[in-house]
Order: sequence, then structure tokens, then C-alpha cells
Amino acid sequence: MSSIHDKKIIIAGAGLVGSLLALRLLQKGYQVEIFESREDMRKQSISAGRSINLALSHRGIEGLKLVGLSDQILPHAVQMKGRMIHTLNSELLFQPYSIRENEYINSISRRTLNIQLMDAIEKWDVKINFGNRLSHFSPEENKFTFTTKGNLKNELVDCCLIATDGSNSIARKFMLDRSAELRMNYNQKFQDYGYKELTIPPGEHSKFLLEKNALHIWPRGHFMMIALPNPDATFTATLFLPFKGEQGFELLQNTSTLRTFFHKYFTDALPLIPNLEEEFFENPTGHLNSVKCSPWHYKDQILLMGDAAHAIIPFYGQGMNCGFEDVVVFDQLLDQLSNVEELFQQFESSRKPNADAISDLAEDNFEEMRDKVSDPVYQRKRALESQLEKKYPNYYSKYALVTFRPDVSYSEAMIKGRLQDEFLLKICADQTEFNDIEMMKIYNHLQSI
Ligand code: FAD
Repeated sequence: MSSIHDKKIIIAGAGLVGSLLALRLLQKGYQVEIFESREDMRKQSISAGRSINLALSHRGIEGLKLVGLSDQILPHAVQMKGRMIHTLNSELLFQPYSIRENEYINSISRRTLNIQLMDAIEKWDVKINFGNRLSHFSPEENKFTFTTKGNLKNELVDCCLIATDGSNSIARKFMLDRSAELRMNYNQKFQDYGYKELTIPPGEHSKFLLEKNALHIWPRGHFMMIALPNPDATFTATLFLPFKGEQGFELLQNTSTLRTFFHKYFTDALPLIPNLEEEFFENPTGHLNSVKCSPWHYKDQILLMGDAAHAIIPFYGQGMNCGFEDVVVFDQLLDQLSNVEELFQQFESSRKPNADAISDLAEDNFEEMRDKVSDPVYQRKRALESQLEKKYPNYYSKYALVTFRPDVSYSEAMIKGRLQDEFLLKICADQTEFNDIEMMKIYNHLQSI
């Protein structure tokens, strides 16, 4: 039986989840060694990763509280209190996320967040081994190899590895190479959609050109654009389009079709994106994929965490939040279990149903964001939910359960939230106004779900 207290823990990947985990383990007194395939982002001006900014919400904030960094990091974020819908006719419609004061999401730069976590790690006199890629695993020798660009090898034996190396995890591939031995299930799903990031710069005197405290959405049925604010008064817009078909990336091959397309579908946004052509044709087109797999561990040698275990599509803004919640749960389990394999097993049992739930919810939310938010029945449902929240502070919508209630697991939020939605959409299909008695009946029914 191997005890976690006697082992050196290697962390492969100092992205968001790996950095938070490393910091927590150092705070708890574990022996930790950290490897990151990229060079130190603090010494480079390029963006840290796939998306420039992220929506940080209550589950993720719990992770930052755990390491004592929430007060330091949150001032770098811009609060988003609801969705601002931009209709095809350029009308604006604001849908608050919640009417409770402290319930909003936070737009934060991925780079700022990662740098703050890395700086905090280094205060423990630990150096992150940048430019070191996990490249080989020998289970028989219990040996992990990290390789630098110059082909220098770093070999570590008799440790356990926590793989936070993201959605294309190499550690997961090592496990898949032994899939028969592990009876490993693996499902990777690519969306027919890709994404492109564009910039809305500030106006004169560093003014935000759109409402600052909102997540902007241009829902267009089977495609959409969103924009999140940054503290420097820019917005990062992300265009989600199918790869193929009439409104797909494949047909937007030159500046004139691109301009015509934006003029038709994003009329109010077009004048706000002065470098549309350059950015559209030069920025990469991102893919969207999700991964579900099991098991998440190989004996007492490897554990997958964050996107490596459960990559999801970004439409609930929960991938990182879910990964940070992984760290919170792992931290609790460390206080209860010391046997490494049991710890890894328990971690998966506790997290897998929740990771699957948020993955499924993110699929649902894509349809909701690109299409349903502009549907009158859906809008009546949102208005009714705001009224319910005002009258009954105990009422939480599906979105609020997922986003603002870390005390409710993702799987509970999914089950309850879906039943609530089904009921509310049904009544809002036929009725537009509700008197006090009807509201009470609706509330009582929702409480019984
Ligand atoms: P990553 O952030 O991918 O980090 C993995 C790290 O491992 C990287 O630093 C990488 O360089 C390193 N690495 C990779 N391979 C190796 C190797 N072989 N050896 C060593 N190191 C390695 N989530 C939210 O919560 N809110 C949002 O609003 C949100 N928006 C998103 C928008 C988009 C367009 C996308 C694509 C994702 C979004 N996400 C969002 C999801 C979020 O980005 C991820 O869930 C999160 O980054 C996962 O963190 P991670 O540390 O597990 O993986």
C-alpha cells in the first residue's frame, strides 16, 4: 500500500488547474514537482492559451478562496450581471443572471489568472520546469520522462503523476495504450462548429463601446457571436459558426463575403470591429471537442484532472470552474485518505457524475444561447424566473444552480434544473401574466421538484 504522504507528486501541466492544484499541495506540505511544456508566459507577450478571457463563477472562486487568492484575483475581473441580447434588428434586451446582489459572473483574462497562480507557487521557493513536455511513461519501472525542445530528458521514478495537461492529454493517451488492461472507456466528440476570436477596441477616452457589465450575445439560430469585457475597455468577441454550410466558415473565404455576412447578421457589431478582416483571416479557427473517459487513474501512478479527465464545450462557461472544483474536492479527500489508489478512485467516483452532468448541460446551453434566448416563450420564462427570485429568494433557476451554488453538485443542478425548465416553459407557452396566487402555486410546485 503506497501512502500519498511518502510520495513525490509530479504535476504535468501548469495551466489553470495544474497551477491551482500545485499551490494547494505546497500549502499542505506535500513534495511537489511541476512540469509545463510551454515556455514561461510571463516572459512572452503572446496569449496564454485558447481563449483570451474566461467567465469565472462561484465554483471557481471557491478554488481561489481555498488557496487564499480570491481577494487578490477578483479585482482583475469585470463583473457580468446578465446577458445582453443583440437582435437581428440591433435591438438590445438585457436578461439578468439573477436578481440577488452577489450573483454575477466575472470576465477574467486567462493569462492574468495563470500568472497570479504561478507567482503564488514560486513564493514557496519552488521552480516550475518550463519547456518540459511529458513524453513517456514506463509503468513497469514506474518512470515518467519529460523532454525539452533540445531533447534533454528529465526522468522521474517512483512518484505519482497528476496529469493536468489539458484536453489533448498525453497522460490520457498513455492510459489508452493500456485500455484493455484498464477496461478504459473513451468518448471524444467534435462539434460541427468552430470559433474565431475578434477584438472590439475601446472608444475615445478608453470608453467601453458596449455595456460593460454584461456578456453580449448575438443569437442567430444555428450560429452566434458572444463578447466578454476586459478591464482595458476592450471586448473579446468569439464567433461560433458551423465549419460547413451556408453560414459556415468554408464560405467566408474573402473580405467581401465576410463583410456582407457581418452586415447581414451582426449589423451593430460591424462598426465596432475595425480589424475584422485581418483578425478573421489571420486568427486561428478553434475546434470544440469534449471528452468523457473512465477510469481517470492508472493504479497509483497516474491521475487525470481538469480538462485531461473531462474536457467540455465552453457554452456554460464552466470548464475551468469545474477543474477548480476538482481541486477543492481533491483537497477534501486528501484529509480523509492516504492510500494513493483509493484516493484516486474516490476522486473519480465523486467527480465523474458531476463532470458528465456539466458536459451535458454545456451541450444544452449551446442551443439555448444561439437560438432560444431570442424565443418569446423562453424570454417569458426568464422574466417569470426573475419575478420568482424577487418574491421567493429561495428560488434558483437552472443557470443559478449551476453557476452560483457550489453547495449543489452539477448532477443535482442538472436534474432539478431540467425539471424546472420543462415545467416553466410549459406554463409560459400559454400564459403571459401571473397573479400572486398563481405565482405561489408555481413556486410551491418548483419547491416540490
Ligand atoms: P489547460 O488550461 O489546457 O492547461 C493544460 C496545460 O498543460 C497547458 O499549460 C499546456 O501547455 C500543458 N501541457 C499540455 N501537454 C503537456 C505535456 N505533455 N507536458 C507538460 N505540460 C503539458 N471555462 C470556464 O470556466 N469559463 C469560460 O468562460 C470558458 N471559456 C472557454 C472558451 C473557449 C473558447 C474554450 C476553448 C474553453 C473555455 N473554457 C472556459 C474552458 C477552460 O479553458 C478549460 O476548462 C481550462 O483551461 C482547463 O484547464 P486545465 O488546466 O485542465 O487545462
